Amino acid sequence: MPTGERDLTQAARALATRLPEPLAPLASIAYNLRWGWTPGGPELFESLAPYRWELSSHNPVRMLQELSAPTLERAAQDGDVLRRAAEIQQTIDADLARPDADAPSVAYFCAEFGVHRSVPVYSGGLGGLAGDHLKEASDRALPLVAVGLMYNQGYFRQRLDASGWQHEYWVPTDPPLLPTALVRDEQERPITVKVPIHGEDVVAQIWRVQVGRVPLFLLDTDRSDNSRLARWICSQLYVADPETRLAQYALLGIGGVRALRVMGIEPDTVHLNEGHAALATLERARPAIEAGRSLDDALAQARDGTVFTTHTPVPAGNDAYPGQQVCDALGGFAREAGVDPWRIVELGRTHQHDVHEPFGVTQFALRTSRAANGVALRHGEVAREMWHALWADRAVEDVPIGHVTNGVHLPSWVGRAMARLFDRHLGEGWARRAADPATWAAVDDIPDEELWAVRNEQRCVLVDFVRDRSTADRLQRGESRDYVEAAARAFDPDVLTIGFARRIATYKRLDLLMKDAERAMALIDGDRPIQLLIAGKAHPRDDAGKALVQGLFSQRGRSQRIGQRIAFLHDYDLAVAARLVRGCDMWLNVPRPPMEASGTSGMKSAVNGGLQLSVLDGWWPEAYDARAVNGWALSGEADPDHAAQDFRHAAELYRTLEEEVVPTFYSGENGGPPHAWLAMVKASIRSIAPRFTAARMLDDYVERMYRNGNGA
Ligand SMILES: *Cc1c(COP(=O)(O)O)cnc(C)c1O
Repeated sequence: MPTGERDLTQAARALATRLPEPLAPLASIAYNLRWGWTPGGPELFESLAPYRWELSSHNPVRMLQELSAPTLERAAQDGDVLRRAAEIQQTIDADLARPDADAPSVAYFCAEFGVHRSVPVYSGGLGGLAGDHLKEASDRALPLVAVGLMYNQGYFRQRLDASGWQHEYWVPTDPPLLPTALVRDEQERPITVKVPIHGEDVVAQIWRVQVGRVPLFLLDTDRSDNSRLARWICSQLYVADPETRLAQYALLGIGGVRALRVMGIEPDTVHLNEGHAALATLERARPAIEAGRSLDDALAQARDGTVFTTHTPVPAGNDAYPGQQVCDALGGFAREAGVDPWRIVELGRTHQHDVHEPFGVTQFALRTSRAANGVALRHGEVAREMWHALWADRAVEDVPIGHVTNGVHLPSWVGRAMARLFDRHLGEGWARRAADPATWAAVDDIPDEELWAVRNEQRCVLVDFVRDRSTADRLQRGESRDYVEAAARAFDPDVLTIGFARRIATYKRLDLLMKDAERAMALIDGDRPIQLLIAGKAHPRDDAGKALVQGLFSQRGRSQRIGQRIAFLHDYDLAVAARLVRGCDMWLNVPRPPMEASGTSGMKSAVNGGLQLSVLDGWWPEAYDARAVNGWALSGEADPDHAAQDFRHAAELYRTLEEEVVPTFYSGENGGPPHAWLAMVKASIRSIAPRFTAARMLDDYVERMYRNGNGA
């Protein structure tokens, strides 16, 4: 049955016909995102035309279509380019030729995938995690396929005006310019599935994106045979209108299972990564219902092959819809399956017979999966409490929600200089052995001079980027010339650089550092200064979040120094994240506990030799080790008095920065490396890298979740 493999090959061939013959391998490399984490892959494309590479958002399919004939001719004559292309092609071919590992086959469903910046179907942490899951699954040859949606405008882009207020805009995704191909049948017709949603038989086609060995299938309703409303379903990730959002979830869950069926893919297990795709279980139960089984029976069977990961301790993050809205959206499907739509609504309520309760996707997913997990040890506890009412007859510790702590895909996040350092000291293949603590023991033996040189190099790359980017941003915003020039002059490659980058939601408390503006200024402007890099998007409707960013901007007037030591980098995405986590010396995380499910950006920072200063929430209680001195912690207990908690945390934060972070960073003598700081960096890498790598995460998922476990 067609699965799009041939279509990707054809797309690569079509692209190759536009290139001089010796460059044909580039076209084939471009259609598998594996190049993105193959050493030398990004550099190969960049070297062809650095400026075009930036313009294309590091999308080689687009860049190769746009390069001028003379540029292509020059590359075709360049023996070095051809040799490197052949090597990368070989690496990828060898990777694809390996047999599958012995593990249950899995279909991984998620509303967003952050595999690479050039495929804009992600927003933030959840997508990044899903992308890392696919890449690590590919590296370990797990039999896994992924299912999501192709958003024709992706997620919103962010622009700030001169007052610091966020504005959103959307950019067309234009799938034909992406490394993707429509799955077609023998007659070259796109294969499609139909899903009845809101009374319309919505038709979806399927794009295939290749992530190493793992195929990622993206459903797309933007077809002329659909109504405008149906086409809009695949417009924007997390589209604002609730009914369209519900339609997206119906398409992802029900349509996703149908898509796998028409491609002949029958996974042992469906992994619902967050509740958005929860309706998949209904569709998997449908054939049994149609064959005469009861809904409960059929669901029990489908449930046996379903596992679910919840990500949101924030109640508003768990979507819920009025029962009538669900019946309106799914009435056609329910009729087709022969079930009462109100029965579906009941399965999404905490108290099934409470007619006032809406349909919650998380409740539905918890009820219809064999195993469920949170994404950190503490989040598991929080989730068991949060969903206790679903198992009211059990003690809270017996609520069947376990945890698999998140991890990050090291080859994607470790910077080039740091990766070379690991190559030298940990030996070839350290990324494959990353989950083994023994791999990291040798970190202790890295000479401080060498480690410090790498840290300096990665910070320097970031500072160069920040200077350039903030100068351009400030010009674009129409700022004063002085302020623009401050950006170009400032940001010092030798200054302690602190990163604060995350979704700008109020619970992340961006304003904590500015609670006492005088004390903050003293840190920024001291003899041993700090510089602060901030990035993140506020939800389009979150005016409180936008006001936080604006509040930060309003500090500009206080001192010239602010413009030289604090930069807001707009449009936070995978590419900005990679630069920040590689370059920053310290990563700051001050969410209001216990609102952080896990967080992953700190892990990305730690494996690059950044130190953590974080509230003990999310993943940090598992990683922080006061005895090993592998970072800094602010207290993590919940406190209903938010003002008092903010006051306390701000004081703890200033004290830690003033008395510990700053003196330790600047402890080097006579221009030499700061040994005390580097001892902490080594302790941090050694303790964090093996436990918060995606390799360990995938081991846990296979053992606790995919192999028939119940997750607990
Ligand atoms: C890693 C990453 C995140 C996760 O951020 P946390 O604050 O740690 O949850 C979000 N967005 C992007 C672009 C990322 O790369």
